Amino acid sequence: MPLPLLQNYINGQLCAGDSLRRGDVFDPALGQKTKDVYLSNTADVAQAVMAAKQAFVSWAKTTPLKRARIIFAFNQLVQEHIDELAALLTSEHGKVLSDAKGEMIRGIEVIEYACGIPSLMRGAFAEDVGTGIDSYSIPQPLGVCVGITPFNFPAMVPLWMLVMGIACGNTFILKPSERDPSVSLRLAELFTQAGLPQGVFNVVQGDKEAVDALLQHPDIKAISFVGATPTAQYIYREAALHGKRVQALGGAKNHCVVMPDADLDLVSDGLVGAAYGSTGQRCMAISVAVIVGDATADQVVDKIKQRLRILKILPGNLPEADMGPLITQQQLIRVKGLVTAGVAQGASLVVDGRELNVPHYEQGFFMGPCLFDHVTPEMSIYQEEIFGPVLCVMRVPSLAAAMNVINENPYGNGTAIYTENGAVAREFVSNIQVGMVGVNVPIPVPMAFFSFGGWKQSFFGDTHAHGSEAIKFYTRLKNVTSRWPEPHMAGVELTMPTLG
Ligand code: NAD
Repeated sequence: MPLPLLQNYINGQLCAGDSLRRGDVFDPALGQKTKDVYLSNTADVAQAVMAAKQAFVSWAKTTPLKRARIIFAFNQLVQEHIDELAALLTSEHGKVLSDAKGEMIRGIEVIEYACGIPSLMRGAFAEDVGTGIDSYSIPQPLGVCVGITPFNFPAMVPLWMLVMGIACGNTFILKPSERDPSVSLRLAELFTQAGLPQGVFNVVQGDKEAVDALLQHPDIKAISFVGATPTAQYIYREAALHGKRVQALGGAKNHCVVMPDADLDLVSDGLVGAAYGSTGQRCMAISVAVIVGDATADQVVDKIKQRLRILKILPGNLPEADMGPLITQQQLIRVKGLVTAGVAQGASLVVDGRELNVPHYEQGFFMGPCLFDHVTPEMSIYQEEIFGPVLCVMRVPSLAAAMNVINENPYGNGTAIYTENGAVAREFVSNIQVGMVGVNVPIPVPMAFFSFGGWKQSFFGDTHAHGSEAIKFYTRLKNVTSRWPEPHMAGVELTMPTLG
């Protein structure tokens, strides 16, 4: 019995071209391949760009209010299908159902924000910039825009991009992760059902070959990317080389500072959720707890140990599961290898999840939570983005030392501090070199009406995702200077025009 083939979605229809290449889609809890995904070639990309380019002509002229009505209808449909979408997501990603639903909700919030596009996408007007002369700026859509997305948020990250791009009057091509591409296809079908004209939203499945074709295509105006830092750097360079606007969000190493005055139960609950939720495969996961003072560290390590003992590591579709498997066998081997290296380099492995066995799911990509104490900056478990269920504890003597560790780190995506002292929190917020900061909030993911994005090696570009930054990214400003002459104003002038 052949496995289902996940195809492209172009011009409102599922289709596949003449590429013979296929990718494997797994159920990570079973450790079994469940689907094939079509891997597009240059001709498939050209077909999608042609469809999106043709659709742009009328979509750009569709009034923002009419666009908003279709987005409203899409919002309604996504909400009605949230359980189905979450289950589909879990079956390919592995995260637990409640987490998959949380991801859907964060994506839905972006759809809700985009419903306000008639009032969000407005320019500025100044009367009488000169005598009888007015000046105004109009934000206009760019054309065909592209989103290239990672495996770890197969619904939320695509929704950050495609909904905002389309709301602004662009047409869109999404290249989802080849590891969990089904949710994107389902979203495309629901958008069509909501009344989106054919060709406005297209999905191209694939890997590097499809991405390179997108980066090089002359009719694509902008690229939004989220993924690992080396890929982000490559996308940023190549897209810019080909004259495109680009925003590229990269990897992370997120630290949480724990001050001795913090409520250590709150801290430990927060750290367990932030480090092990989604099996540590969140770009905003806390992977390093920087704890001020040995007495505080001893208590926090002990409290985390107690909490890890009762975590249930099971297939994500079981309601009692707290933590699911990793995405692939390769990632499982890599994370276990990093843990082994951490031990060899001298860190204390306080909780070791490497040998976890989940009965009936022996082939699944499971490992248990790992907790390291006494981690130092030169260790590979500190230097690499592990992207697995591993929390490293670093002990430091002061807030200044904690901030120094974070500011020296090449990444700058998210960070947090736990303290009951407002002045300490303020000092941290003001001077930390990171793009998203939490105060007693371990995963400070901004809401849809603010913008998401890191600093340093976690972000390449100028404008962040969703919120007002997305309106800037997906539009360009035209500035108009206008005069309605009266007959007596005629007359030749060769001097430089000045207003006044
Ligand atoms: P990845 O970089 O391997 O893949 C991301 C996308 O790029 C996929 O669509 C993939 O097909 C494509 N791609 C991969 N290698 C490529 C290459 N050499 N050339 C062209 N295209 C390529 O990332 P991933 O493993 O899917 O996702 C995990 C990474 O994403 C982590 O590093 C995580 O921190 C990061 N991430 C960052 C954010 C953020 O907001 N900063 C959010 C989510 C994930």
